[in-house]
Amino acid sequence: MSREELHRFSGKLWREIDRVEPQKRLAAERVADFHEIYSLLDEATVREQAARCIQCPQPACQQGCPLANHIPEWLSLAAEGRFLEAATVSQATSNMPEICPRVCPQERLCEGSCILLGHAEPVCIGAIEKFINEFALAHGAVSVTCAPANGRRVAVVGSGPGGLACADELAKMGYAVTVFEAQSQGGGLLLNGIPAFKLEKSVVQRRLNILEQRGVKFQYGVKVGVDIDLRELLERFNAVFLGVGAQLARPLDIPGADLAGVQQALPFLVQKNSPMAFDLPDIPVVGKRVAVLGGGDTAMDCLRTAIRSGAAEAVCVYRRDLANMPGSRKEYFNAMEESAQFLFLTNPVALEADEQGRVAAVRCVRMELGEPDASGRRKPRAVPGSDFRIPADLILIAYGFDPVPFPPGSSLASVAVNDWGAIKVDENQMTNVPGVFAGGDASRGASLVVHAVRDGRKAAQGIHRHLNSSGQSTSVAAK
Ligand code: SF4
Repeated sequence: MSREELHRFSGKLWREIDRVEPQKRLAAERVADFHEIYSLLDEATVREQAARCIQCPQPACQQGCPLANHIPEWLSLAAEGRFLEAATVSQATSNMPEICPRVCPQERLCEGSCILLGHAEPVCIGAIEKFINEFALAHGAVSVTCAPANGRRVAVVGSGPGGLACADELAKMGYAVTVFEAQSQGGGLLLNGIPAFKLEKSVVQRRLNILEQRGVKFQYGVKVGVDIDLRELLERFNAVFLGVGAQLARPLDIPGADLAGVQQALPFLVQKNSPMAFDLPDIPVVGKRVAVLGGGDTAMDCLRTAIRSGAAEAVCVYRRDLANMPGSRKEYFNAMEESAQFLFLTNPVALEADEQGRVAAVRCVRMELGEPDASGRRKPRAVPGSDFRIPADLILIAYGFDPVPFPPGSSLASVAVNDWGAIKVDENQMTNVPGVFAGGDASRGASLVVHAVRDGRKAAQGIHRHLNSSGQSTSVAAK
């Protein structure tokens, strides 16, 4: 199909085709369960929507995608109805091409960079990426063929998106990869942190199955630094990748933060969403007035999970305004539709207790935005005399996460970290310990799934280069 033809679909020019969003279940229906809310686009719509891409020679969408996905290429194939070929192109640069489109904030990445913006709505890149990859999976057209075994062994610590991407890339290159996971199932944050209404657990399990078919081995219930040390891994494997994530919750530092009824976001999300749920005690939500403190995607997940768990109301308390809120706009609108409320420019200053010592209210002050800070965002400051009170009997703290410090005395402590506890890495994702690599939230702090996938892929290339340049033999003992 010529470029001109591509810009015409069924006789229409790209600008005559409106952007179509995938159908969403009605809010009243979807808050009654934890299933995904978006349907797949149908084939005809995918073809038409993909034809909205004008195939610009220097695709800004590709630059906006952390994986530099070859978006125009697979959009062109999708426009022709060549969905399996489109999926093959998509899979070449992403180890989770059906997962990233479910969880990426496209408005800040690929779609936010689409050249059509300013003239029209951007191409619905995420929805098309999801469709072509679901199409390939449904047709059994995802290759699990790998290069012949090269005799080298790599240990991957953690089975979140960074670890899985690294393991997958190395397996495809012929490495024997073992993933060590502290929990009893794989997926890390994908399984435990992200609610199923955004990413079904079965989608994560299907991706784990593909890795197993590529020969990746999983050892569950093994805590590196406790059950097995880094030194031992380096004796048994040619290289190690640390993808241990960042689960240390930032504390709430105001009076009343230790009251009964105050919970950190992650244990709440795990308890309500994870198929493991570990041994966490039930957090009662039915009939509660829930206040979620913070404005990121974790806060949106908490609001929507609280609503599905029977909360009487769920209110987000955030100190900046909507324009400066880090959470995805898509998730903000979804939360709004599901009856979440938002108090912007509002900062909690204390929690109040009832007679039983349980939290009963959040005392807040109004904020206004001053000059931009080092991050470029306008710094909020309190408006004098603006105190007010929000009744609330369950508080969820969603102020973000930092990496968990390594166990004292473990040889992991030899891996250098920065002031925030994030592992320091070089341009190949290698740490200060030769042969030990890291990526994802463990090295960059809490960030997006797609960033972790990028780090995992980059580390796999770094490991490959390191082992080839160091001429390391294959003589590591297979214990
Ligand atoms: Fe867009 Fe994310 Fe897919 Fe990249 S991986 S094309 S940013 S949805």
